[in-house]
Amino acid sequence: MHDHRKLGRELGLFDTDPLIGSGLPYWLPDGAVIRHTLEEYIRDAERRAGYRHVYSPVLGKRELYEISGHWSHYSDDMFPPMDLGGEQVVLRPSLCPHHALIYRSRSHSYRELPLRVAELGGMYRSELSGVLGGLTRVRAIQLNDAHIFCTLDQVAAEAAGALEMIRRAYAALGIRPVRYRLSLPGAGGKYVAAPEMWRRATAMLTDVLDRSGLAYEAAEGEAAFYGPKIDVQIADGAGREATLSTVQVDFHQPEQFDLHYIGPDGGRHRPVMVHRSIIGSVERAVAHLIEVYGGAFPAWLAPAQVVVLPVTEAELPQAEALVRRCAELGLRAEVSGPEHGSLGARVRAARLAPYQAVIGAKEAVGDEVALRLRDGRALDAMPAAEALARIGGLVEARAAALWESES
Ligand SMILES: [Zn+2]
Repeated sequence: MHDHRKLGRELGLFDTDPLIGSGLPYWLPDGAVIRHTLEEYIRDAERRAGYRHVYSPVLGKRELYEISGHWSHYSDDMFPPMDLGGEQVVLRPSLCPHHALIYRSRSHSYRELPLRVAELGGMYRSELSGVLGGLTRVRAIQLNDAHIFCTLDQVAAEAAGALEMIRRAYAALGIRPVRYRLSLPGAGGKYVAAPEMWRRATAMLTDVLDRSGLAYEAAEGEAAFYGPKIDVQIADGAGREATLSTVQVDFHQPEQFDLHYIGPDGGRHRPVMVHRSIIGSVERAVAHLIEVYGGAFPAWLAPAQVVVLPVTEAELPQAEALVRRCAELGLRAEVSGPEHGSLGARVRAARLAPYQAVIGAKEAVGDEVALRLRDGRALDAMPAAEALARIGGLVEARAAALWESES
């Protein structure tokens, strides 16, 4: 596996500046393309699974986090509050409290549940500068988050549904988990004290894992302060493990925010919150994808999907026209012309691009291209329209294969 920090800079995906600060990377255009494409993939998967997306601010009053329990259990990881006109506001350490308030802002019938609220939103963690580097330990995090407000009876199905979404996303993205972990509380005081609540939530998640057929390990001391969780662990090239995806059952925050729904009996009932993240933070997910693929991303994620190579200056107009046709079809393409060197040198320079479209004199006359695939295959010249339609179909399907003839 590659080191995403080194590769990210070499490929021009992201960088940092001492004036912005450590742990605060910015995304360059090619990195932004990968991030945006990944975010669209997740939003699409969530829409299909019945989630509704919201936006909420990255700031909240200190009091909000006192109610949620973050202030007393999690403040070591939070930025210090900012004084503002007699009150204190805090950069949020998680999205849950905002989503609890969004739920609480309207009354809900049992018929609306499960209510799945999703947001790709910013959150902040006051990591010490010594552990920062690249995209894996950052102070500003964009989290693929969601909270499912549901009845007790619906928790198991919702948690299992989230695990299934994780499985599918990993298959689509080429991510292999190293282990599934049932994260339980450990000795020490950072957890909310409610033994019955912990027992019930742990029993539910254990049941979901047992039914899923996945092998898992229990680990003490890894729970959230408000409840146990299922963590999906990945590893980097050095074997260092990190949590990417998570599914959590929470009885605590619904209680703290006095959430309720109207049941079939007309009475008020307390919903359960299932917290879940499919790809975790966008930063960590992209870091992992850079390491998994070494920059040779699947076509649908690649910053440049088609690099058009005119053999000589004479074919430059046709090459530029092909790039415009790609753009109209939603494909990302660029020209690498003779000013960048010999054809062989340009082929090597574009070796990470899934498709190279070579246009010589013969192809220019016939509106054809000779495709070279990243895996080394060179296809016979074909009509440009056919090549673009086939590439477009593979990108649209988020295919792992570079060409249809692959099995
Ligand atoms: Zn949450």
